[in-house]
Amino acid sequence: MARSSKKKGFSRLLLIAGLVVCLLAGAAAGAAGQVFALRPEGYYIPPTETFTPEASAGEGYEASVITSYELSIHFLELGNKYTGDCTLVKVGDTEVLIDAGSTTGSIPTIAAYLGQYVEGALDYVIVTHAHEDHYAGFATGEGTDSLFDLFDCDTVITFSQTTSGKEDQRMYRNFERELREEEENGATVYTAAECVRGENGASPVFDLGNGVELQILDSYYYYNRASSENDHSVCAMVNQGEGESAKHYLFTGDLEEDGEEYLVEMNDLPQVDLYKAGHHGSKTSSTNVLLNVIRPEIVCVCCCTGSPEYTKTNENQFPTQEFIDRVAPYTDKVYATSLCVDYSKGAYTSLNGNIAVCANAAGAPVVYASDNTTLLKDTAWFGENRRMPEAWQAEAAA
Ligand SMILES: [Zn+2]
Repeated sequence: MARSSKKKGFSRLLLIAGLVVCLLAGAAAGAAGQVFALRPEGYYIPPTETFTPEASAGEGYEASVITSYELSIHFLELGNKYTGDCTLVKVGDTEVLIDAGSTTGSIPTIAAYLGQYVEGALDYVIVTHAHEDHYAGFATGEGTDSLFDLFDCDTVITFSQTTSGKEDQRMYRNFERELREEEENGATVYTAAECVRGENGASPVFDLGNGVELQILDSYYYYNRASSENDHSVCAMVNQGEGESAKHYLFTGDLEEDGEEYLVEMNDLPQVDLYKAGHHGSKTSSTNVLLNVIRPEIVCVCCCTGSPEYTKTNENQFPTQEFIDRVAPYTDKVYATSLCVDYSKGAYTSLNGNIAVCANAAGAPVVYASDNTTLLKDTAWFGENRRMPEAWQAEAAA
């Protein structure tokens, strides 16, 4: 039974968000013609209102356009220079939120975006693993609203394992407290392992309506401790329609090589229409073992492109050269959310921006983005920082 009220903190937050939008609009007008804008960290509201549907397919980004589809999958910009994941799946008035990174500073940005799409309670929340860039939005300290405080959540599906010593970390303790409070407020909480095994009322498949289902995939590291937190990631498939024309959308969190091998072994994975690039396009994920099976049509990377947050080595910055080389034989439809401008100054901008992959039961998915739908290989960043893989060269020549 869906609860229908948004929590009181949200209206206060919308008011603050509105004020910030006004301030930013003024600043943007003054800086017209500049390529990059310096946005105050944590308080950048993606400019969804300013984008109108263009005649050219795929560019429009009004909520009304996006919600006219039976299914939409949104990869969010997070309002700061840090890489992180936050994905919204919307099917009619049913919503699934997968992760809420990159930092607790992303919460106003995420909440403002969700406010445009979430009707009533958030029906499902998946927390893939206990890393800040995925669960910070659920793990605030006391006195600060988390997304659990701002939205009622009906069903929360969490990771089944963590690496050792997690309970010594403040953010993890915050997450446990916030989750317990949400449960006390009426949310049903399952681990991914409980879902796969159908234990305690959980189920491996949840009906989202419109002929769309959320399937929790099985993974070895739901039951065994991995050395890397990433391999504990909850993996999920959204399936739309049935039979030959069915479409499939895959989310593997930050699963790495080891986890991907088990994922392929333990699940009967189909060819997928959309793959959220594992681990932000890291070289340790999206291995050939997985790609050979899923053969993705569209790949979305949630990252601050070219950021030195994790490494100074250019070709290992997200999305990495190795990731690009492995994905290229399957598709050139690769998109990424944000672009790092000057990490030391906290400056970033949109690469594609918020990305929404939309689909009806009939027909192929359409990609919309709040800034543009330029393919990764055609961006200035790619030209300056990446080698064109052979598969993409051949395509350019053809
Ligand atoms: Zn991550």
